[in-house]
Amino acid sequence: MKYSEIINELARVGVQDASSEAGVILEELFGATRADILLNRDKDYDSDKIVPIIEERERKIPLQYILGAWYFMGERFEVSPDCLIPRPDTEILVYEALKLVNDGGCVADLCTGSGCIGVSMLKKSEKIASATLLDISNGALEMAKRNASALGVENRCKLVLGDITKSLPDGKYDMIVSNPPYIPSEDIKGLSDEVKNEPMLALDGGRDGLDIVRALIDKAPNSIKKGGHLLIEFGYDQGNAIANIMEEKLTQGAYSSYKIIKDYGGNDRLLLARV
Ligand code: GLN
Repeated sequence: MKYSEIINELARVGVQDASSEAGVILEELFGATRADILLNRDKDYDSDKIVPIIEERERKIPLQYILGAWYFMGERFEVSPDCLIPRPDTEILVYEALKLVNDGGCVADLCTGSGCIGVSMLKKSEKIASATLLDISNGALEMAKRNASALGVENRCKLVLGDITKSLPDGKYDMIVSNPPYIPSEDIKGLSDEVKNEPMLALDGGRDGLDIVRALIDKAPNSIKKGGHLLIEFGYDQGNAIANIMEEKLTQGAYSSYKIIKDYGGNDRLLLARV
């Protein structure tokens, strides 16, 4: 099958960004570089390997799950239907968190999923002494463990199975980071078929989407050292609701300051709060 035929087949089965997916498939399956693909457009690639992928894409299985891996912060992370696919906007959380890291710092990544946030922080910063990676899903935690090992940071990781709406992991941290589920339950049915194939546990944030965010904001001050930080990703339209919650927390003295940071698309996306 030629590159152009792969693009046409992907487009036929409803893939939005068919040319970029065709390129990723050729890179992953045949080790082709973008330059190889474009300079040898008539090259014939083994259809037996490509057709099953097109069939799975027709069934709306995300390409990342078919390939079993995706890239985040320039690193390759294994992914499976047990964990959310890492998103580029979540890299903003990592960049902001890395600016605040102190020597010997202890970090907790709550709702770690693939481990993409905590593991890439450990990989990028030698200053971080340890990261506790917590998830409610055994399957996700297994992925986080595999990614920590593959990226050589497993000796600085602690993996914890737990439910943060009940309690946060033991200990006092310099920083808590989280990309929790934050989609309002009602909005789930309107998501794309691909996103609906991601774990509901990783997406559904309850009635207004903020059940887990609120639990985190409530509990985090007891688990963060004085002067330490909480960073939480949230939905594009939740900035005002988060600001209201935080204004009340400031008057109660639970936090000393906070700011809201925008994503690449200019939407409110990230809470950065200081205890
Ligand atoms: N922390 C993981 C990520 O950012 C998983 C988040 C989640 O499961 N809600 O991709």
